[in-house]
This record gives sequence, C-alpha cells and structure tokens, in this order.
Amino acid sequence: MKKDIIQIFGSMVFNDATMRERLDEKTYKALKKTRAEGLRLDIATANAIALQMKNWAIEKGATHFTHWFQPMTGITAEKHDSFITPGRDGKALVEFSGKELIKGEPDASSFPSGGLRCTFEARGYTVWDTTSYAFIKDGSLCIPTAFCSHGGDALDKKTPLLRSIEAISKQALKILKLFPNQKTKRVLPTAGPEQEYFLIDEKLYLARPDLVHTGRTLFGAPPPKGQEMEDYYFSSLKPRVSAFMKELDEELWRLGVYIKTKHSEVAPGQFELAPIYGTTNVATDHNQLAMEMLKTIASRHGLACLLHEKPFARVNGSGKHNNWSLMADNGLNLLEPGDTPHSNAQFLLFLVATIKAADDYQDLIRVSAANAGNDHRLGGHEAPPAIISMFLGEELTAILDAILEETEYLDKGVRHMEIGAGVLPPFPKDSTDRNRTSPLAFTGNKFEFRMPGSSSSVAGPNIVLNTAVAEVLSQFSEELTGAADFNAALAKLIKRVYNAHKRIVFNGNNYSDEWVAEAKRRGLSNLESTSEALPKFNEDKNIDLFVRHGVFSKSEVLSRCEILMDNYCKTINIEALTMIEITKRMIFSASVGYQNKLATLIKAKKDCGIEVLGALEYELIEEIAALSKDMAQKVRELEEALQKAKEIDESAVKDRMIFFRQGVFFKMEELRAIVDKLETMVAKKYWPLPSYAEMLSSAN
Ligand code: ADP
Ligand code: MG
Repeated sequence: MKKDIIQIFGSMVFNDATMRERLDEKTYKALKKTRAEGLRLDIATANAIALQMKNWAIEKGATHFTHWFQPMTGITAEKHDSFITPGRDGKALVEFSGKELIKGEPDASSFPSGGLRCTFEARGYTVWDTTSYAFIKDGSLCIPTAFCSHGGDALDKKTPLLRSIEAISKQALKILKLFPNQKTKRVLPTAGPEQEYFLIDEKLYLARPDLVHTGRTLFGAPPPKGQEMEDYYFSSLKPRVSAFMKELDEELWRLGVYIKTKHSEVAPGQFELAPIYGTTNVATDHNQLAMEMLKTIASRHGLACLLHEKPFARVNGSGKHNNWSLMADNGLNLLEPGDTPHSNAQFLLFLVATIKAADDYQDLIRVSAANAGNDHRLGGHEAPPAIISMFLGEELTAILDAILEETEYLDKGVRHMEIGAGVLPPFPKDSTDRNRTSPLAFTGNKFEFRMPGSSSSVAGPNIVLNTAVAEVLSQFSEELTGAADFNAALAKLIKRVYNAHKRIVFNGNNYSDEWVAEAKRRGLSNLESTSEALPKFNEDKNIDLFVRHGVFSKSEVLSRCEILMDNYCKTINIEALTMIEITKRMIFSASVGYQNKLATLIKAKKDCGIEVLGALEYELIEEIAALSKDMAQKVRELEEALQKAKEIDESAVKDRMIFFRQGVFFKMEELRAIVDKLETMVAKKYWPLPSYAEMLSSAN
C-alpha cells in the first residue's frame, strides 16, 4: 500500500515525537532543556540518547553513522563509520556511544581553514548541534554537527550561525523586556530560503566539460527562442520533470524538510522550490539537504540539476531568496504589525532596527551574497544590483513619513499619528504590493533578501542579518533602558532613526539605470563585483561588530576573508583552464574540420573550372579562418594571463583576486565572444558542444 504524506513526513528523522516515544522521561527532559537553553549535554544523557538513536536507525536499515557538517567549501561533508565493531567469538557487535554522538574527530586537514589550523594540529573536531535533528540518508545516520579547530576556532558555517542566533536572541530579549507584560524567554531568527535551479538532460550535461567542471557554460551562442515570450513562468510541468519533483518532495519530506511549492521559473528549464520557514539554523541545514537531493534525484531521472548562479549567459540566472524574520518563543512574529497599540510600537521598533542595520552594514550584507557565480547576476537586469536598498511598500513608507513629518496618517478615516496611539492596518501580503526588483523587500511580516546566489549556503546571509540587527537592538536597548518616559523615548528614537536611515529605503525599480545614479547621490555603496566586495569583510568596523557579539573572533574573520578570496581565484582559474582546454581540444578541431570540408569543395569547384571567388563557401572559409586566428591569439593571451596570476605572491591573496577579475576574467569574455560567433558559422555536425537551444528545452 502506498504511504500517505503524513506517514512519510519526517519518517527518517529522529525528531521530537520519536524522541518522546523512545527516550525515558529523564533523558528526554534533559535533552529538551539543553536544546532550549543552549547548554552542553552530559555524557550519561548522551549515552542514553545514542543507544535509542542507534536502535531506531538500525530498525530503519541504517548501517553507518556520520557527523554531518558544513565546512567552508560551501557543501556538506560527511565521514561514515559503520556501527559494527568486532566482538568476541568472531561475532560482530553493534556499537554507538554517547561520545560518538556528541563529538567526532575527522581528519580535517584538507578542508580550507585560512591559516587557522596548522598542519601539525590538523585534527578538527565536530560537535552535535542538538537544535537540529539527526536523520537517515542513504543508509547512514547523519548527525548535524558544528566543526571547529582544536583551538576552538570555527572552521564551518554552522558555528558562527549558531553564535549569531544567540546574539540576536539576547539583544531582542533586552528590547522586549522594556515593554509591559513580556514573558518571552527566547527569540529566534527565522528563514525560508526559496531555491531556484535549472534542469537539463544528463546526456547533454555530460557532453559539456564546462558544465561538468565549472557548473556553467563557458561558451554558447544565444538560442533563437529564450525567455522573451514569458511563456515559461508558472507553465505546466512536463511528465519527466513532474516525476522528478514528486520524488524530490517525498525524499525531502522523509527527511523532515517542509517543501511547499514548486513551479516553473522565468527561464526555460528553470524551476523553484520553497520550504516552509524554520529557525535560521534548521532552515540552513534543510537548504543544504535540498540542494544535495536536487542533484541526486535529478540524476535518477536522467537529468542534471544546475545550481550555478548563471549556467547560461544571457538567460536569467538562479538566486536564492532568503526570507527572514524574528519569532518569539510563543510563535509571535516580531515583524508582523500587531493589533494593539503597544504591539505596533514594538513592530515599528524592530522595523527601524532592521532599516538601520541594513544601512549601517550595507557592505557586509553585500559581502554575504558575493561569489564568482553571483557576479554574473547582480546588476544584470534580472537580479537586484549590487546596491543594498529596502522596499517597504507605499503604505508602510507613508506611515513612517507621517511619523517623521508629525503629520496625520489617515487610514479609513482613523488617525494614526502618535506611535502606539493607533493601530496599524495589516499590510497587504499579496503580490500586488511586491517589488520584485528590491534586494531587501518587506513583504508584510518578513524581509525577503533576494540577492544571494543559488549555489551558496544561506548561512552567510543569515549570520550577517542576525548580527547586524543584534547590534542595532543593543544600541536601542541601551538608549531606552531607564528612560523616564518610555513611550516618549521610543517615539523619539523611531523618528530619529528613520530620518537618519531612510536613504536606504527605495520603493522604485532597482533594475533601472536611474536608480544607480540616485543611489550614488544618496551615498549608498555599490560594490559591483566580488573582488570589490570581499575586501570590506575585514574592515575594522565589521570585525568589531562580529567580535562584539561573539560571532567571529578577529582571526576567524581574517581567515574567512582569505578563504573567500582564495576561492574566487580558484574558481576563475578553473574556468579559464577549462576554457583553454575546450578551445584547444574541441573548438580548434571543429573549426579546422569544417574549413577542411569547405576547402575540399572549393578545390573541387576550381578543378572543374567553376568560379569560387564570392561563392558562399569561399566567404565562409575566409571569415572562419579570420575568427580562428583571433581565437588562437586570445587563447595565448589567456594562457599568459594565467601565468602572470601564478607569479603573484601566494600571500597576496587580495592582489591575486583583483588580478583574476581584471586580468583573467575579462580576457575570458573576449575569448568567449569569438567562439560564440564561430558557433553560429560552423556547421552543426562539426560543433562539439550541445547548443543552448538543445539544453534549455531538454528536461521535458
Ligand atoms: P513568494 O511570493 O516570494 O513566493 P511566500 O509568502 O510564498 O512568498 O513565501 C516565500 C517564503 O517565505 C517561504 O519559503 C516561506 O516559508 C517564507 N516565510 C514566510 N514567513 C516567514 C517568516 N516569518 N520568516 C521567514 N520566512 C518566512
Ligand atoms: Mg520570493
């Protein structure tokens, strides 16, 4: 009998319900307390949990366990150990201790550490993150863990994310305590990352070394039909894609991921998946799982899932919309306008805190979405530009403006001027009030950060949002604590802060050239590419922020910055090498082969005394020969550029990054232009790479 969704959901997760059922009461309570208060697990409790977890996992068919972690490579890592140990009489024993549950010591010397972990102490350790449930994937019990060096430095994306959650919870609580009748004990930032991706036929994928090695097509002439007819968005799903999505849903549901929506996106072959939101920590874990499953399950259907930000030039790329909000432990959304005067004042306070945070830390927010792939999207009239601004919508902006001007804000004839005196109307959450060009759009009760790229972890954006807002909240609580007249002080603060930071609010079209000019007038930062953005990460102001809130130490920021810069260099280097290889080994021979064919015809015609000057084949061969000469020259220049990059001192990573952008990347664009032109001239049967048109419609 086929199982229904209720039976499927979470069936592979050692979740709260399973724990309540399997753990004795004392153990269950101890774990709950640890989870709620962020404490350490004692070994007796850990042993009791490990025993039940192992029994459960083995009943579900698991044979191995692994600490599942998120090193700085951006993907998840796992090292599997089997549950089996040799017992007496040649019999195998099944073992899994509390110690193995809570702590692992992977040999971690091959993960990037940015100099934090010397090779002589190459071992790092992993620790169970009890706030994220263990699950079974592919026969292994996966235990979500944080990954640190022996000195305690974070080597992963989870550790700082957990620290940033603590920071914002602490600061938000301080603020809430200032309001009457507050019983909140914990505030958690929430995230719901919408994920875009492409699907193409796997055979075509494998025929494109550029896709295989770099995730994007380094060459490719535009297809005759792109997305201009706008007939793909929300179009019906074809059977193969539909079967893939069905299996994906079920697989993710088993893993306890609440996948909710699926639809076709703007570009042909592009789709989107959205989960129901969770805490930023669990949402990040689940997004990592979703990305992994997208790839695995696509392959089962003869498809390849492309998570790169720009797999196809001139076709819309893929992003990841990180919806973000703050939730109190009673489930109340702190960014939801309330229905009592005091909850509205509270809402406005959290709202202006986010506005100020976005303005004060524009650069860091930008950095959190910076990678080589995303450089192709930002500012490309399909994704927000590299300028951070916020959309609040007309209604909310009008309310804030009224507060500022001390004029009346009238809603259906009701006066709402004094903060806290009136009740704010609920804001429309439907798409009519959406601005799809804004990098940070308020959408009724949350902010949608639309800048991050599709391939990256959402840990980075959430770390920055959590920490920046935590900082502003801490400034606010300092100002408001002990105020003689709390309401008056609050009103004054909201007005002053909005006035000082309203330059970041922009409700118009972010894709327009006018906005770029206007943003410059407003003094907003515009860090166009990764190589401009990353050097901001380790500026003193930003290091201070992270250190103050215990999210990163100074050396952790420096090392992370170095890893990100180095990663950019490596990405461009691999792309350039792949380009050279494809050009030399595939495009050259296509060009030569086709010229040979044309030359044979020309010679045959000549032998028969037929005039060839001005004939089609004659003109073609001339043009292809000229382009091929340019192509060979560009390849040489690109090789020289890579050689130069190699000569830049290892330690000068920032210089290397800038050179890879200026000296290598733009050279690659020049080579590409020539090859793409050639593609339109060389006969199809000579061209070695599947075309854009073939790939984009191949998932159907
Ligand atoms: P869209 O029109 O952008 O698809 P939706 O309202 O469907 O907007 O929501 C998009 C995403 O926002 C979903 O993943 C959803 O879970 C998430 N989301 C909704 N509320 C919150 C919240 N309070 N915090 C974080 N994410 C949220
Ligand atoms: Mg969205």
